[in-house]
Amino acid sequence: MDKQEKKRILITGAAGFLGSHLCDRFIAEDFHVIGMDNMITGDLRNIEHLFKLPNFDFYHHDVSKFVHVPGKLDYILHFASPASPVDYLRIPIQTLKVGSLGTHNLLGLAKSKCARILVASTSEVYGDPLVSPQPEEYWGNVNPVGPRGVYDEAKRFQEAMTMAYHNVHGLDTRIVRIFNTYGPRMRLNDGRALPTFIAQALRGEDLTVFGDGSQTRSFCYVLDQIEGIFRLLLSDYTQPMNIGNPDELTINDMAREIIALTGNQSKIRYVSLPIDDPKQRRPDIGKANRILNWNPAVNRKEGLLQTLNYYKQLPSEELKQKNF
Ligand code: NAD
Ligand code: UDP
Repeated sequence: MDKQEKKRILITGAAGFLGSHLCDRFIAEDFHVIGMDNMITGDLRNIEHLFKLPNFDFYHHDVSKFVHVPGKLDYILHFASPASPVDYLRIPIQTLKVGSLGTHNLLGLAKSKCARILVASTSEVYGDPLVSPQPEEYWGNVNPVGPRGVYDEAKRFQEAMTMAYHNVHGLDTRIVRIFNTYGPRMRLNDGRALPTFIAQALRGEDLTVFGDGSQTRSFCYVLDQIEGIFRLLLSDYTQPMNIGNPDELTINDMAREIIALTGNQSKIRYVSLPIDDPKQRRPDIGKANRILNWNPAVNRKEGLLQTLNYYKQLPSEELKQKNF
């Protein structure tokens, strides 16, 4: 098949954790992939292996500014946005802009190209949820003016804008609500619990558990997440869809699992809980199961081992870098 006949997909946030795995997946599916990223939290090493391929292009661009891509586009995946609380609290205005202005730009691009667009939403639209597990019908419990509001409200706006383009312009849209996902290529110092704990354990330091560690999360391995997103994009389901692993555990238990996995002697050190940190989070994945025939396949032990092995092969200086 020559280059013009391939399906063409634009992936924003391509140099980030999920974006880079999506690039790999769509290259493997024989698409022509156009990556876009402004590198605010990304790392070019995540996609450097793709630069030599004829069916991969890369644009260094901030999608909160007008987005232009030459040629036809069949699909757009809008994944550009800081995702770690440490990142989005450091750059709150850029976070609000990419979720709002960036989303608007990409919806406009999708409309002009007659492309299908899937936007990356988040379990954070449920805020500090009062029901568990969280089904898509739950409207959430979000503090708009709290520190996390810059991320949560940007994503809620993103969903509202996407549905408006769907309803008003008949745009072909998909919305994925991603629950905590982990795996190789997560920045070791991005501040999220899992890379932080692994880095601390590998350095032989104590693990910093926020609050009393009784808050829960449900961690999904990256390749399971990518499979769910792939199926949702190719489905005809246009309402928001949760993708995540419902295997819920406390942050205390997660810290203990990581200490055991690394075999180090680290202990847990309790530090103060960030404002509005959700107390529980667990996806109801009934819809993904019924509509996409999707279920997570990688258990946490296996996923953590893959992730640990990835971090172990990074240059040793990286383990020393902390950004918070
Ligand atoms: P990440 O920080 O690793 O990647 C985000 C990428 O977007 C980075 O490469 C960054 O440079 C780029 N970016 C940010 N603002 C941009 C802009 N204005 N223009 C162009 N590029 C920009 O984060 P991630 O974990 O890969 O998350 C990707 C997406 O998935 C985000 O939209 C996030 O909200 C969503 N998400 C992720 C998770 C998770 O657990 N990883 C959970 C829920 C939602
Ligand atoms: N957390 C922690 N220690 C850390 C980083 C995070 O105890 O060094 C906690 C955090 O307060 C939250 C959970 O781990 O309750 C998951 O945090 P993360 O930043 O990974 O993602 P979130 O789900 O909060 O967006």
